[in-house]
Amino acid sequence: MAKIIKCPICFALTEKDGVATQVFRRNGMVVTITGIPAVRVCSHCGHAVIEWETAEQVEKLVQFLLQWTENYRLPKPMVNINFPEPQIVKTTQPLQAVAV
Ligand SMILES: [Zn+2]
Repeated sequence: MAKIIKCPICFALTEKDGVATQVFRRNGMVVTITGIPAVRVCSHCGHAVIEWETAEQVEKLVQFLLQWTENYRLPKPMVNINFPEPQIVKTTQPLQAVAV
């Protein structure tokens, strides 16, 4: 089921899944996470809609890293985390072939 979801940012229709990037900052530490499986990515503004469960798992990962900054005194690191594709949250709907 390819459900049409409106982008909550620009209200354009979002039609396909993809991956999202999220950046978290705290106490001078920057955690950049790429390749987060998104259920919808807005083709207009690029905003990604992420499933609650996915967002929660990412949040847990980031919390773990950010807590480190509160316990240790080394300079704050820049952390890049990349989830490899393809990912679990792919929709089963095949992409329609477009005749050119
Ligand atoms: Zn949008």
